[in-house]
Amino acid sequence: MRTKLLLVVLISLMCLFGCSTADNARKNKVIAHDMNQPRPPVVTPGRTPSDPPSHAIVLFGGTDLSGWVNDDGEPTEWVLKKGFVQSNQTGSLVTKRKFGSCYLHAEWATPAEVEGRGQDRGNSGVYFMSTYEVQILDSYNNDTYPDGQAAAIYGRKPPLVNASRPPGEWQTYDIIFHRPVFKDGKVVKRASFTVFHNGVLVQDHFKSPGGTNWINKHTVADYEPHPDKLPLVLQDHDNPIRFRNIWLVELDD
Ligand code: MG
Repeated sequence: MRTKLLLVVLISLMCLFGCSTADNARKNKVIAHDMNQPRPPVVTPGRTPSDPPSHAIVLFGGTDLSGWVNDDGEPTEWVLKKGFVQSNQTGSLVTKRKFGSCYLHAEWATPAEVEGRGQDRGNSGVYFMSTYEVQILDSYNNDTYPDGQAAAIYGRKPPLVNASRPPGEWQTYDIIFHRPVFKDGKVVKRASFTVFHNGVLVQDHFKSPGGTNWINKHTVADYEPHPDKLPLVLQDHDNPIRFRNIWLVELDD
């Protein structure tokens, strides 16, 4: 009698579990063109491609540098001018906030008055996570090593094409960056870069084999584990570079 009772309970539980699993599977299944799918959030686009959409984090809109510091965490000495900020040999411009994967828009201009050549002409850079540099350089009629020209992933990948505007003109970067993922001290997902320079695709989901730090003439850094979020950094390479309209949207990893 007791064995029969146990058998009935066991069969009932199995049925219950089986039914519940099937229900869950039905619930979780995404069917094409299903009206029950969640809707994407509605945002207001910028008036022009330079302007941030309503869900963006504005890092520099032309007047306020309160979200930025220098390399030591002190107030920056970069010069704030009418609608733009300019480097002045006082070190990097560093965001107070920390970011990982993101979509970044930034506008920059190298000096109209050309000085120097190669890497000494209009050099700056955007460092994602304070570590991975998308190069800024006056690459208009200015030859250098291709993995160090404008829109290169520094030391890692030249741009697909050279879409540079002449010195002094405003140029745009639109960059989709996905951070590297580390596990047990090793990279298990590499950093990736998709870059549009002045609206032209110049990096097509490039997965970097390592870091972009300079070590010596022909080497760059390996990946080194770091936190999931770090500041965004603009490089001061001793050339007066202007920046404006800097904003980003954080992305899922
Ligand atoms: Mg640079």
